[in-house]
Formats: sequence, C-alpha cells, structure tokens
Amino acid sequence: MQAVMETYKRLGIAPTSGKGSWLFDDEGNRYLDFIAGIATNSLGHAHPALVQAIQEQSEKLIHCSNLYEVPIQGEVAAMLTAATDFDRVFFCNSGTESVEAAMKLARKYAHANHGPHKHEILTFSKSFHGRTYGGLTATAQPALQSGFGPMLPGVVHAPFGDLEAANELVGPQTAAILVEPIQGEGGVHVAPEGFLEGLRELCDRHGALLIFDEVQTGAGRTGHLYAYQNTGVVPDVLTSAKGLGGGFPVGALLAKEEYAALGPGNHGSTFGGNPLAMAAVKAVLGVVTDPTFLEEVRFKGAVLKNALEKLAERVPGAEVRGEGLLVGFDLGDPDLAREVFEHCLKEGVLVNLMGGTTIRLAPPLTVTRTEVRAALDTFRGGVYAAISAVEAATIPAAAVA
Ligand SMILES: *Cc1c(COP(=O)(O)O)cnc(C)c1O
Repeated sequence: MQAVMETYKRLGIAPTSGKGSWLFDDEGNRYLDFIAGIATNSLGHAHPALVQAIQEQSEKLIHCSNLYEVPIQGEVAAMLTAATDFDRVFFCNSGTESVEAAMKLARKYAHANHGPHKHEILTFSKSFHGRTYGGLTATAQPALQSGFGPMLPGVVHAPFGDLEAANELVGPQTAAILVEPIQGEGGVHVAPEGFLEGLRELCDRHGALLIFDEVQTGAGRTGHLYAYQNTGVVPDVLTSAKGLGGGFPVGALLAKEEYAALGPGNHGSTFGGNPLAMAAVKAVLGVVTDPTFLEEVRFKGAVLKNALEKLAERVPGAEVRGEGLLVGFDLGDPDLAREVFEHCLKEGVLVNLMGGTTIRLAPPLTVTRTEVRAALDTFRGGVYAAISAVEAATIPAAAVA
C-alpha cells in the first residue's frame, strides 16, 4: 500500500472475497458486511445474476464509444424511466459525476429559458454531493472544502431543514435547489416533515429546478426504488449512483422531458453508459424494482430500526434515524460510539462510524432476516458493554470499595 496515496483512513482489515452479506480475508476471518461498500453492494457480494450479467457482457463487448448507438443504454434507461417519474437519463460513472451533470443541466436550462443571471444553486448544511469541484462546492461542509478554494461561484447554502432560511436565499437568480431527501454522509438525517414540500413550492414559485441527490438513498436502499417515491414530492431531476451498479462504477442523471436541457456536445463521458456498466445496472434493476423485494427491504429495515430504537432507550441522548436499510444509530457520545464500533469490528460485524457519534448501518439489500438478527445481537452486546464500561468509569472509587 506504500505506493497508494493516503486519501483514506483505512481500518486494518483486508477482505479479498465475498459471498452474500459476508466478506472474507486471506487469513481466514469472515465479516458480516453491514455497510456494503457504503450502500453500494446492493445485491451483496457475488450475486449470481450480477456476476452472470458482467461475465456474459464482458465476452460480448466491454466498451464501445458513445460515437455509436449503445442499445443496452436505451434498455436500461427505459427500465429507469418506467419505474420513476422521469423521461430521460444521462449515464456517467460515479455519484459526483451525476451531481456535476445535474448542476450543468440546471444552469443550461435556466440560461436557455431565463438568461445567464439565473444560475444560483442552493444546497444545505451537512450535505454530501461528491468530491469534484461542482459536487464539493455543493457539499456544504467547510472541513471538506478547506484548502481547496476557491469554490465554484454561484452556490449558496442554507441549514438543512430550515425552510425559512431557504426562502430568504431563493429568488429570480435561483436555477436549482439540490437536496438529499435523507442526508447519508452527513449522519443519516431524514428531511423534516414539510421540508421537501416547501422546497418544491419554492422551486415552483421561482422557476427553479428541484434536484434530489439520491446517490445514496436510491436503487432500493430505503425500500422504495428511490426515496422520493415515499415523500409525496416529485423532483424535476434526480441523481443516482452507489447501489445502482451493485458495486460496478456507474452513475445516472434522471430528468423530466421538459428539463432534459443537455443536448449534443453539451456534456459527455468516455465511459458513461458503457455496455459492461449497463449490464450491471440491468441486473441490479432486475432485482430491486421487484415490489416484493422492496417490501422485504422495508420489513428488514423496520426490524433493524425497531430493535435499535429499543436499544436507544437505554442510552441517554441516543437516537435512531433513517429509512429502510439506511439507518443511523446516534449514540450521542463519541466515546460510546467508538466503543460500540470497535466491539462490532472485533466481533466481525462491519459498520461505519460517522461524525463521531453516529454508527451507520447499510447492509446489502439482500441481507437475510437471520443476518439482521445476528448483527443486532452483536450491536446489543456492544452497546451493553460500552454502557457498563462508562458506568464503571463514572462510579466513584469509594462506591466500588
Ligand atoms: C457518495 C455520495 C456522492 C458521491 O458519490 P461518488 O460515487 O463517491 O462520487 C454524492 N452524493 C451523495 C448523496 C452520496 O452519498
């Protein structure tokens, strides 16, 4: 690893193969994967349908330029539009690229229909939209932007959930509002009641596009193909990536026909929508668009969340957030969260510690009910051990004697 640039704080484990919800390393250890490549291995590891699709497509055609027709792109786009409120899809290779495409589309649309003054994009505190300059500027987290300035002009930020602040910042200059219906990286924060509706109204009033960044919440993660489908609010544009390819790098921008403002020469990507990526997406969508499959995701999510909520009652200040199989357990205390996290790792359950106090659980959507219960047992053990360690540490020595 000496030659790899150290852009990640890595844990000292090295999985080299996987099957279903399990990861294996070369030393005989196995791990129950409750983070799934950060909500990316939607079908778990080595899912037969995904493996077969990639295998078969790789023998036929791996890459073919967008100079030519790529029929499987049309097929996959049709699957996405049939299952959503959108009409047009642009394919790229990652989440941040889907956000770039969305920001470019919004500005192009505003420019063409209103003029260059209408170019501002409003995003929210604690958001995460990726690491390229557009996505990073949209990401309203000073810690991530620090040292990389100047950011892109024309992007403004309001506190997440604060409709009044958003109202102050939106006007004739606004081209788009970009928001995650559930903030993933920011700590699994669900948009508060009425917030998304309010943003929809603001956009309608000012002729701005409402863009949902569903890179993390999409592809079935919340028990709906896209999280917006359970909010009663339909955005104009949506971004998707992470779980969409089940681990194969791919991103997508979905837009309603009237806002599909990117034309020939406006935007592009060498790899975007390449046949191998499309075969992966087709296989994933074949599984996750099934209503029975989504219902089971909601069921397993409810089991997970209910059990964690019970557990949270034992921990002062703890809170459980999220939807479907994207759950954040905020322990309210960094030491406690660290202890629980370490316990899970030691016991072979992979979760993710974020923002100091929140543990994120995002297992493969194919996780079994038994595996959910197993992870919960480990989690419970971790919380009880952490609580008693804290209690022991805070009981005065005299009381112990
Ligand atoms: C992960 C994420 C991104 C960035 O995706 P990459 O594939 O890492 O570029 C953007 N938006 C959201 C909401 C994400 O969770």
